[in-house]
Amino acid sequence: MRLILHGTGAGIPSAARCASALTATFGDGSVVLFDAGEGAAQAMLRDGVDLSQITTVAISHTHADHWCGLPGLLTAFAVAKRKSPLTVLAHPAALAFLQQAALHSHLFPERLSFAIEWRPLATFALPDDWRCLPIPNTHLQRVESFAEQAGVCPTAVSFLLEKNGVASVCLSQDLGSQEDLRGKLSGCQLLVCESAHVNLESVVAMAEAAGVRRVVFTHIPPDLLTFPASTATVQVLPATDGYSLQVVISH
Ligand SMILES: [Zn+2]
Repeated sequence: MRLILHGTGAGIPSAARCASALTATFGDGSVVLFDAGEGAAQAMLRDGVDLSQITTVAISHTHADHWCGLPGLLTAFAVAKRKSPLTVLAHPAALAFLQQAALHSHLFPERLSFAIEWRPLATFALPDDWRCLPIPNTHLQRVESFAEQAGVCPTAVSFLLEKNGVASVCLSQDLGSQEDLRGKLSGCQLLVCESAHVNLESVVAMAEAAGVRRVVFTHIPPDLLTFPASTATVQVLPATDGYSLQVVISH
């Protein structure tokens, strides 16, 4: 599985970093997109992704920097007269909203050359014996009651990627704090961690205690310039847009 971080910026717009978008490419060439911040389609093209190979888009939560690129991506598919179906996974309240965003972009199902399956986010299978588990975290806890009252998406999730049933890669997406990672990293070899709502040193210490070999920091605010050093057992890497890594897991 190849992971590419197309957008390593945080919610604050940055000239140097795009908004959140990360792809996983599998042995059969299929691509799964995790979050679609604004400009996701352009960022993926820049990084050499064949957009037609995207089978699934999973949205962690509905902060604008995680979904705004979806209507643009769907428009790109429509213009290219895509044939293969696409699955969009999100919280049920978010699905209704994202469907409306597509309709308001004049992407009418009757006129599209491809089908979109809007499916509530739950564990889903991936090629090459991978599986993705959405794990709720506390990122939206402070606004949960407002969100529930307004009928909008009240929860955010991290994505745990299992290979042959063993947790192997954690994509934190946005967190409430590093405490959301506690107990989730056991067995993971790689942690792709956001940088805007966590204590970076604590994340590295937690990763080290869990046996994680590599921490890649993403979702980086413009003013964040210093990162913890690698330790004897954990390689620490602040990512830049287009950062790509091959994930090889042997279980
Ligand atoms: Zn967020």
